[in-house]
Amino acid sequence: MLTLAIVGRPNVGKSTLFNRLAGKRLALVDSRPGVTRDRREGEGRLGPLSFRVFDTAGLEEGAPDSLAGRMAWQTDRALAEADALLFMIDARAGITPADRHFARRLRRQGRPVVLVANKAEARAADAGFWDAFQLGFGAPVPVSAEHGDGMGELYAALAPLAAKAAPGKRRGGREALRLAIVGRPNAGKSTLVNRLAGEQRTITGPEPGLTRDAVAFRWRFHGRAIELIDTAGIRRRARVVERLEKMAVADGIGALKLAHVVVVTIDATTLDRFRSFDRQDLAIADLVEREGRAVVVAVNKWDLVEERSEARRALELDLAQALPQLDGVGLVTLSALAGRGVHRLMPAVAASFERWQKRIATPALNRWLEEAVGAHPPPFARGGRVKLRYGVQTAARPPTFTLFGSRVAGLPDSYRRYLVRRLRRAFDLPGVPLRLRFKAGRNPYAKA
Ligand code: GDP
Repeated sequence: MLTLAIVGRPNVGKSTLFNRLAGKRLALVDSRPGVTRDRREGEGRLGPLSFRVFDTAGLEEGAPDSLAGRMAWQTDRALAEADALLFMIDARAGITPADRHFARRLRRQGRPVVLVANKAEARAADAGFWDAFQLGFGAPVPVSAEHGDGMGELYAALAPLAAKAAPGKRRGGREALRLAIVGRPNAGKSTLVNRLAGEQRTITGPEPGLTRDAVAFRWRFHGRAIELIDTAGIRRRARVVERLEKMAVADGIGALKLAHVVVVTIDATTLDRFRSFDRQDLAIADLVEREGRAVVVAVNKWDLVEERSEARRALELDLAQALPQLDGVGLVTLSALAGRGVHRLMPAVAASFERWQKRIATPALNRWLEEAVGAHPPPFARGGRVKLRYGVQTAARPPTFTLFGSRVAGLPDSYRRYLVRRLRRAFDLPGVPLRLRFKAGRNPYAKA
């Protein structure tokens, strides 16, 4: 389970946040000598996430006299035991020298740090919030520990960390594939979930990172555990995602952060007479893509569609045009109610998952780059031709590539799209979000 430590200078609100996360479930107490006021530790909950959390406030009293000494002491303790740190500042007070001191120390540790700007409810907090970017931990998460504001954003920041700390992963076992089913109300999500639950022999067991009640049910598909995220449950428990949900008019969007693969469910009866997708459904799929999740599009209520093969062709064309960022995305037509076509859903999910976590070896990538650039050289930019010299896959889930070269800032978007198209084809990556970054410079990994 993920273990978090709340660190920061005195009076920023560490204990208040601790109380909000761990509430009355406060459990263990640290009675080691040298700690005058006991450290508090408990099981924290935030929506569907559960984690261990401890508050370092108690350490302040037993610590050395100087501020520097106290901070060193506090962070060392936290670092010894935590997987990630919640580094808290007081946005109302702005960034103080003590905050900067902490930041320097934490940056050196390389442990994940979530920067939390507390007391964000105050009007005076704005400046502090923006100043906090200077600390070098990216965008601060604005919260009001006292009023409970910003817990949704905090959840969004913690969910990926919890997924990384998953026990399945640590033990080296095969990690469960976490699946979310989203879509507009009435698309047939519940019917589909029931159908899946009915057809699979469900299994139980320890869940990685998620609390038991975040998982609707688990089963096995081709030897891999699948966890269906309980989107309805998440909605009930965490008000986390209201904003997103309103934006996309979708149920279950909050589960995106937890999911590996997302099935976007669409009601076939809402297709227009040209058999094209409704904009709201496209917006949902686009949102999932921007979140970087693997996507499968399920067109449900296919039993109500006439001239199906023609309709299917029209849908494929429409999807390719409307969502080029998901070119080649798996499209499954089915009837959740009648059970027809449902058997094609999980193979599409599994295929999408495999692509999403694919890793391309650097030599193969560079052979590809040479070919792509040879077949269609980058255009001229101010000062000369854009050159692309070297590429490397810098991340998976979703596949992310960094290409190094000169004058890359002058590369037009059309060329980026050309590369993405070619990359998809060369490495069999249809339908997954792909990220391509450009950097000025030579091969940064070459020996000088
Ligand atoms: P949700 O809001 O997305 O969970 O949608 P529901 O699963 O509650 O389904 C909405 C309505 O569509 C219900 O009346 C279902 O019986 C119906 N429905 C769901 N799947 C199908 C299907 O494959 N074919 C038909 N004809 N109706 C369906």
